[in-house]
Amino acid sequence: MRFFHLGLTFLFLFLSAHFTFAQEIKTDHFILHYGKALSDADAQKVLSRAEYYYRNIADLIGSAGYSKFWTWDKRVLITVYDDPEAFTKETGQPPWSNGYVQFDSRVDLTKSIATFRQSENFSDAILPHEISHLLLHDFLGNTAGIPLWFDEGLAQLQEKDKLPVAKTIMKALVSKQRHIPLSSLMPMDIRKEKDAATIKIFYAQSLSVVDFLINKYGKVYFRDLCLALKNGKTFESALISAYPGILGSLSDLERQWMQSVK
Ligand SMILES: [Zn+2]
Repeated sequence: MRFFHLGLTFLFLFLSAHFTFAQEIKTDHFILHYGKALSDADAQKVLSRAEYYYRNIADLIGSAGYSKFWTWDKRVLITVYDDPEAFTKETGQPPWSNGYVQFDSRVDLTKSIATFRQSENFSDAILPHEISHLLLHDFLGNTAGIPLWFDEGLAQLQEKDKLPVAKTIMKALVSKQRHIPLSSLMPMDIRKEKDAATIKIFYAQSLSVVDFLINKYGKVYFRDLCLALKNGKTFESALISAYPGILGSLSDLERQWMQSVK
């Protein structure tokens, strides 16, 4: 899915400079700007979905206990443009894009998600995906050492219908040993990848491994993993300390994960 690759870059485009919105509504963590194309009832639904995803993801990564995030002045701005033309014009996004996220972790203030009314998978896919990126990055702080697959795997977990598809893909690949070895997955920067098949495997496998880490052993271990990453450990040492006696190394994770998807 290409729309979220920009989530990991720093973008300094400013939204809506010339676009007037009919409405603005707010919840605890989000502000929604929308135009005539979205009904007030639909707008309320978008915000209640956003709050729902926020709670789910915060619970998963363990940031709930730290939640000074995204309140009042730090709310995330969600902008729903009336049509693709307005979206493209106002955000500077390419015509194939159907949504994007921007954040600047250095100032911790600029967080926004933009899309347009016709984007059917916005509430079920784009919104949870981007909220996950924003929340994980906020919680971990410096994400320079966080593997991209981990970030993308978690982001896809809240997307509707994504996991069963990934499971089917990985089952077929693992049985033929055609998955990406974890040692290769770790440093992979998918934003530079051109091969469509590799991109597809990267996303499916990212989701599958993150799902394994959460659902095989439960949230408590996963929260410890996120906390260890927040405290600056490398991924492998965070893994070993968070899953003591369970996962002793990256290859251990790979072996157990492969067993589980077969
Ligand atoms: Zn993403």
